[in-house]
Amino acid sequence: MSQTAGAPPAAPLYRRKRHPYGSRMDRPIRSLSALVAAFLVFCLGLASAAPAAGPSDPDPAPLRIVLTPDEPQTGDAVLVEVECRSGTSCPPDVRLSWSEQEIPLFPHPLRGPSFRAGLLAVPLSARPGEALLEASWTLSERRRGFRFPFRIRPGSFAEEALRVDPRHVRPSAKDLQRIRREREELERIYAAGAPGPLWEGGGFSVPVPGEVSGAFGTRRLFNGELVSRHNGVDFRAASGDPVAVAGSGVVRLGKELFYSGNAVIVDHGAGVFTSYSHLSRIEVTPGQRVARNEILGRVGATGRATGPHLHWGVKLNGVSVNPIVFLEATARLAGK
Ligand SMILES: [Zn+2]
Repeated sequence: MSQTAGAPPAAPLYRRKRHPYGSRMDRPIRSLSALVAAFLVFCLGLASAAPAAGPSDPDPAPLRIVLTPDEPQTGDAVLVEVECRSGTSCPPDVRLSWSEQEIPLFPHPLRGPSFRAGLLAVPLSARPGEALLEASWTLSERRRGFRFPFRIRPGSFAEEALRVDPRHVRPSAKDLQRIRREREELERIYAAGAPGPLWEGGGFSVPVPGEVSGAFGTRRLFNGELVSRHNGVDFRAASGDPVAVAGSGVVRLGKELFYSGNAVIVDHGAGVFTSYSHLSRIEVTPGQRVARNEILGRVGATGRATGPHLHWGVKLNGVSVNPIVFLEATARLAGK
């Protein structure tokens, strides 16, 4: 399903209209400290929003921001929809950030010129509680600002014990050098993505049809000694099964890595990358443009794997996020 950018303004835009002015004053306030904290957040919001509101504009919030999911948990991908409420289009230099994370904004595919969209990553290591999104833009040669408070919930993640080749738990000095080189190569790739979205039109879908056999964020104990977080999601699949590209983009890596085995990384633009690990065969090459559902390789058990499966990863702005939540959040951009 698709909609044109000039959709009628009367059409309902959001399922939830909980924060129409960027504040959370509609929340039940349960204690005095919550009341004081809420008052401070409210004052901050007003103070930062005030410069952009002229005498003819009674609305104190120049931006309307909606998050999906609206109360993300650690490890979630979050769709940020921005409506610029003064003027007919968003200022070209409107920027959005949270903590150290710059969130690339792009024209909203389903809305008019006064809308922008972007994707925010809440790291597994994020501190649960109140957080502030910061927006800024230039108006009459002055930098304006606006803050949007949101709440991060703690995620709950299982633990599991796995047995793998000891080489992947206690790497040799030579392997450690290789691991460091590969980490640097991946960092360079993730830092140099296309600025705008390349996935337009089709959105994203799962790369294989199988059920999830390993959830995102699980604390894993390898061979009883090495603890690590599962930074993707595992799908049950047989060796040789085709693996499809989750969304249109450009292949940035297709090679064997120490931990990931045969791996493919696809750049979808606007801070979004997907990765496909433990493949038995790679059928694309770096630089190649790929369309959603195109076959990029075959399921295997290469690298640190206990058997054939597909490990699928999603990176947003350099941070690993839950791929299943990413699919749900981006479905809204494809009108699903
Ligand atoms: Zn995995």
